[in-house]
Amino acid sequence: MDAREFREFGKAAVDFVADYLENIRDHDVLPSVEPGYLLDLLPKQMPETPETWSEVLKDINRVIKPGITHWQSPNMHAYYPTSVSYPSIVGEMLASGFGIMGFSWICSPACTELEVVVMDWLAKFLNLPEHFLHENEGPGGGVIQGSASEAVLVAVLAAREQAVRRLRLSQPELSESEIRGKLIAYSSDQSNSCIEKAGVLAAMPIKLLPAGADLVLRGDALKQAIEQDVAAGLIPVICIASLGTTGTCAYDDIESLASICEQNEVWLHVDAAYAGGAFALEECSELRRGLERVDSLNFNLHKFMLVNFDCAAMWLRDANKVIDSFNVDRIYLKHKHEGQTQIPDFRHWQIPLGRRFRALKVWITFRTLGAEGLRAHIRKHITLAKQFEDLVKADERFELIAPRALGLVCFRAKGENEITSQLLQRLMERKKIYMVKAEHCGRLFLRFAVCGMDPKPSDIEFAWTEIQTQLTSVCAEQQVNTRKAGELSELTTHLSGLHVTNATLQR
Ligand code: PLP
Repeated sequence: MDAREFREFGKAAVDFVADYLENIRDHDVLPSVEPGYLLDLLPKQMPETPETWSEVLKDINRVIKPGITHWQSPNMHAYYPTSVSYPSIVGEMLASGFGIMGFSWICSPACTELEVVVMDWLAKFLNLPEHFLHENEGPGGGVIQGSASEAVLVAVLAAREQAVRRLRLSQPELSESEIRGKLIAYSSDQSNSCIEKAGVLAAMPIKLLPAGADLVLRGDALKQAIEQDVAAGLIPVICIASLGTTGTCAYDDIESLASICEQNEVWLHVDAAYAGGAFALEECSELRRGLERVDSLNFNLHKFMLVNFDCAAMWLRDANKVIDSFNVDRIYLKHKHEGQTQIPDFRHWQIPLGRRFRALKVWITFRTLGAEGLRAHIRKHITLAKQFEDLVKADERFELIAPRALGLVCFRAKGENEITSQLLQRLMERKKIYMVKAEHCGRLFLRFAVCGMDPKPSDIEFAWTEIQTQLTSVCAEQQVNTRKAGELSELTTHLSGLHVTNATLQR
């Protein structure tokens, strides 16, 4: 493909994407394909001779689009939002065009320095403590990781290595493998699966502590667990708290957790993958309480900031702890500006060596939306979720399972879990809206997250009408089934009576 053809293909692709996003409501949010559909449609080998881009684009429409779950649809209410925006898509395209690897400053100074700039912009936008800023004198700073999972893993690995180093000095009688065998980490039983996975990957068990009845993890639960573990000879390393759990968007009590962590030399990491966006709003300033005491935190721009996946911000109070833990060098990676403050070599802050130019799409998005536009976007999600919450409250067949939190409403049909389960099953079969279920204390519930690139009040009404209508059908079906079951049992009693009468007659 030469530049002329690239221009044609690229322009056609931009038109394709714009048409797709403009008309996204025309599609059912869930695809109607069966597992293996694409494997049957595509040849088993790549083409021997080149095909034209127009043939490929036709096939994107013919075979790929039918197998897409439409995450940018406003009828997507599962998980958490993963909203894209036009500026961010362009940013992604431009970064691909440059095709750089930004693992060290010299590998693309603009990549490193733009990341320093946008991470400080973002920290200020979110009102984070100053020690997380690169421009601050101290050792803190921010970095863009691919996902929250990577950010959590980086924190877990760094905390582990710091603990091992500290203990080798303070308890020289213990061998390194003895120390590693005693390490233990903590999180809440409500935290995201990626936290438990980080423990598996780091070969360090993560104890999932019971959150309170309000689904919040507090310092007393951590204190009790640490006391028990220390008495059993274990070494507490890190606690990963959540500000906005995946199930119900509950906020752990950072202040009380920080006190216990400080007393026990335990690293405190905060996973604010979704809810971190609300730090930007003055009316949500409560959420930021205690952040000045945490060692690290993560927040997904690909959730709430209109920057497309993948883009997860992570801040460290002392980045040297990560750099010291991960620094594995080679002569070919060295350059003469190494070690200068203000120009970090981000390869030491992450797991892979190579790194994408993600800061470009962040910068373009921030500039074209402005802080004002981003705050308006977050507030819009909150307003739409309130609209949905009011609708749930107004229908006595439903109940809320937890207070609405930002753009998430957790609710269920009153009564047996079976009704909620059947409701979800119907909704999934009809594919008009997409939600996922969760469970708390044996009660099944549905999570309604405001998602999509440009959701509107009419989309909330659409979803609610669909939910109400399907609940009505589920209840009607249940009534028919109950009536049939009653008739059947009456018939059985009647028949057994006949049987007795018959037996008596025969005698
Ligand atoms: N933490 C929370 C609270 C989440 O809700 C999620 C995903 O939804 C994650 C972590 C994992 O995010 P990622 O896919 O970026 O690893």
